[in-house]
Amino acid sequence: MERIWIAGPCAAESRTQLLATAEQLAEQTREKGLSLQYFRAGAWKVRSAPDSFAGAGEAALPWLQEVQNSYHIPACVEVMTAKQVELCAKYDIRVVWVGARTSVNPVEVQQIADAVKHTDFTVMVKNPMIPDLKLWMGNIERFLQADIRRVMAIHRGFPDVQENIYRNAPFWHIPIELKVQMPDLPILCDPSHLCGKVEWIPEVAQLAMNYGFNGLMVECHCHPEQALSDAAQQMLPSDWAEMISRLDLRNDSADLELVKQRSTLENIDNQISTLLYQRMKMVDEIAEIKRKNHISVVQPQQWQQVVERYEKHKEDSDYQLFIKRFLQLLHQSSIDRQK
Ligand code: PEP
Ligand code: MN
Repeated sequence: MERIWIAGPCAAESRTQLLATAEQLAEQTREKGLSLQYFRAGAWKVRSAPDSFAGAGEAALPWLQEVQNSYHIPACVEVMTAKQVELCAKYDIRVVWVGARTSVNPVEVQQIADAVKHTDFTVMVKNPMIPDLKLWMGNIERFLQADIRRVMAIHRGFPDVQENIYRNAPFWHIPIELKVQMPDLPILCDPSHLCGKVEWIPEVAQLAMNYGFNGLMVECHCHPEQALSDAAQQMLPSDWAEMISRLDLRNDSADLELVKQRSTLENIDNQISTLLYQRMKMVDEIAEIKRKNHISVVQPQQWQQVVERYEKHKEDSDYQLFIKRFLQLLHQSSIDRQK
């Protein structure tokens, strides 16, 4: 399977920043024998706070044109309106993506689809901010119906009410179900917005490859610490190239049923690990209350109630044995922590 690599900064901040990042990416790909299909940069940024940097706007498009001409890498930007599509065409940028915020609104997506109708634009559609596969698929279908030949999906995770180690919850079963429903559609993963932090990106990128994703869109910046948006999640081009060349690209995804099951398992593991950590934190708070009120650490009746909560599936003796061991560990760790 051929993989699609997209890299570049979150936002187009200046001509210098774009050219320096593109130069480093080009050099790194040459050195490591990789190929970069598209250079990404947001010209218009959707930001939560009104005073945040909202991108350089139209001014960024000639800079991106310069990147295309100097490094022979097509540039791609996020578009939110038909007018922005028109501006991209004016500056010869023919690859665009629909962001997660726009993707929640089919009316706006349709306006973009009408603007690119019957053109040679390549369009990538990010998952909407809400975990609704039908909505995501509907958006993709709008571009297929607009006769766009190259349509791709990008999985960037979903905001979750539950606390998560990642900025967005992966809910892998959703993009995998999309693959089942639309087997010919290339699906990329954006581990940058999913993780929110550089340190998690390599493992999530590898996971996406194991699940049979067709490529990655990764935020890279020549000086990540100076980035005007998403600074914590932007990689140095050299670290990006190192990560890409270390990816294990064996084709694990041949059996889609296995991939589906594994992704469900991963969701469960994520939930267990979040809950276990929350439980530990609660134990710390309870310890503090006990300390203040001079209550002893070990309270047998209280623990009996915990044990009873886990007394389910009595018919399964293997499971009972496991739970017994698990509870011993849980009780001991919680006593150790409180001490
Ligand atoms: C982006 O890729 O620049 C972006 C804003 O991402 P998302 O729409 O996934 O938040
Ligand atoms: Mn970003």
